[in-house]
Order: sequence, then C-alpha cells, then structure tokens
Amino acid sequence: MFSAVTEDGQMFHLLGASQRQKLKQRRFFCPVCGGELAVKLGPQKAPHFAHKQNKSCSIDIEPESAYHLEGKRQLYVWLKTQQASPLLEPYIKSINQRPDIMGNIKGHMLAVEYQCATIAPDVFQKRTAGFKQAGIIPQWIMGYSRLKRTAPSFYQLSAFHWQFINAGPCRELICYCPETRSFCRLSHIIPFYTNHSYCSIQTIPIHLASARHLFFTESKSSLRYDNWMKAILRFRHKPHRFISKELNRLRMLFYEKRQTSLPFLPTEVFVPVKKGAVFKSPVFVWQGYLYLFITDLGAKRAPIHFSAVLQQCKLHIHKKNMSLRYECSEDCLFEAVKQYIDFLCKKGFLRETQKEVYVLNHPAEGVRSLQDLIERDRSCFIE
Ligand SMILES: [Zn+2]
Repeated sequence: MFSAVTEDGQMFHLLGASQRQKLKQRRFFCPVCGGELAVKLGPQKAPHFAHKQNKSCSIDIEPESAYHLEGKRQLYVWLKTQQASPLLEPYIKSINQRPDIMGNIKGHMLAVEYQCATIAPDVFQKRTAGFKQAGIIPQWIMGYSRLKRTAPSFYQLSAFHWQFINAGPCRELICYCPETRSFCRLSHIIPFYTNHSYCSIQTIPIHLASARHLFFTESKSSLRYDNWMKAILRFRHKPHRFISKELNRLRMLFYEKRQTSLPFLPTEVFVPVKKGAVFKSPVFVWQGYLYLFITDLGAKRAPIHFSAVLQQCKLHIHKKNMSLRYECSEDCLFEAVKQYIDFLCKKGFLRETQKEVYVLNHPAEGVRSLQDLIERDRSCFIE
C-alpha cells in the first residue's frame, strides 16, 4: 500500500514522495489497525508500505506485487486527470473496507479495485456487497497479466474471470496493463467451451481513455464472425479423443437419433448468442439438445411453441444434461433461448407462424460432407 499515518497523526502518501532515504528515519502506522509499517524501497517494486507484523490486520492480507502497485499508481494518476478527485486507499470505516482508489465520476462514487491476484469468491462477493451497501459503485479492474489468449478473439476465462464479468451491468471485462499502459476491454463475451470464450477486444491507451466512457457506456465494438467461424472449424477438425461426460451424452444422442458424429454437428448448434453466457456447458451442448427437440417436432410437421422449447431447456438443466454458469432468473434463461430461436428465424431455418409459434422451414437433410458443412457454416455466419 501507498498510504500510512505518521507519528503526529497525519495521512501520508508515498506517491511522489521525494528524499526516499529520509523516509527510513520516520515511523509510519497502518490507518486501519494502527500496526507499525515498514517502508519498502527495494529495486523491484515501487516504494510502498508493508506491515511489520500483519497477523492482526483485517485489511492488508495479501502482499502486493510490483505489477499491482505500479498499476494502482498509474490508475490513480489517470483518475486525477479525469477530474474524479481520486482518493488513494481510503479506509471506509462503516464497511471496514479499503478500496485501491475511490473517485467521483459523473456524480457517482466509484470504488476502483485493481485485482491482480486470485480472490476467493466469498471475499469478492463480500467486498462487492459492502460497497453497494455504502452507496458506492464497485468498479473491478483485472490485472491484464491474468488474461490468456487462446486464439484470435478467444480467451481462457475461468470462474475467476466470470466474477468480474458478472459484477458489472454490461457484462464486460476491463483489464489494465501497467507495462503497455493500456486498458483492454472485453465485450460481447460468448462462451464456446466452458472456459474458452469469444470476446470483442478493444485496447485503449490510458492517456486516451475517458473514465466516463470506460465505466459508464457499453462498448461499441462488433462481433467478429470470422473468428467465431474459425472456432467451429477447429472443432470440426479436432480429434475429440478426450471428451467430458456431458459432451459424451450429447454425442451418443446425436449418433443414435441422427447418425451424426461430433465433427458433423449441424451449423445450427454453434450460434453465437450473447445471453448464452448463462450456460456453463459448451455452446453446442445446450444448443444441441434444443436443436434435437426442434427438429424432432419439425419432422412430425408439428408446430414448435417457444414455451415448449424453454420447458425442454429447463428439463435438461434439471437432468444435468446441461449446466448453468450462475444462478439466473427465469427471464435470463428466456432471453438466451429467445435469442437462439430468433437467430434460427433470421437464417430461415425456422419460420414464425404466429407469436412464439414456429415451423421448421427445411426438412432435416441427410449427411453432408465435411466440406459442405464448412461451407454452410460460412454462409450462415459470414455472408
Ligand atoms: Zn493494518
């Protein structure tokens, strides 16, 4: 941390402090627990304070990395240029929390938490709830070093990352890298596999970033269908030697009902649905079950009621054929399924005959060659 209380009770910030060696002769105390702090002036990290013995401190529990300290420093300096009147590491007694930075943006109090280390889910929830209780908007920013790209527009996003994504209203992930001095904003986050998601990516150098824009408006970047397509292509060419129990159940079902193996799964089970992030199961698993249900009805020339599709989805969740990423409301599930059905209508696979009642436009077609399927993927998602 950068802040401490001096012997005469004054707040002291290390940022911009000159005469570093003189600091060694003074005594500093923790604003939270009153414990004595040591000034750390090593070559690796920015000058900072650390508890001499921190067993009893309720706040300063995790040691801060050089990356974290430098990122926090840069974010604080940036917020000053944003007329946000930032406070560095203020202690909020009513909730016993000390955010990295607190600032006022567009008349809202924001607690900026720059998180580089793994954080336990209960701690994350507790801190988020604490700020809200105090009327402060929590703004989580993840250390960019925690992000791993797996392919163009694809990132490895685990439960750790999803905490951040779900904490905000826009379901985006904002990261900051003190080395490149840039924000990285991930939006349109759509899982393909459980832990691999498509994202639209925007890199914003900090000197060009507007806090109002970054924290209070949704990203305008668009979905790159070509990169989504490439993920389907990789799936079709993958050997599928090790598959999960969940995928195996679906594999057996497609084999039994449609004599279709995994590389030949229909284009219609790879639809990028934004609200689909609610599912923890891969995209082709949750859409696979719905596809089978829809085409079974279609083969009988029976009408397809939206309510029945939604019911089917709930049934498969109940049977644990597919799983949810987070507890969600009925509305949330409704929207995910609706976006899926709407896409199928847009592409002419389904046709709405009356409100929320559909018919299948094309009868189920026979086995195609892999090349035909890839062409169909392309025409569905790119053209
Ligand atoms: Zn302390």
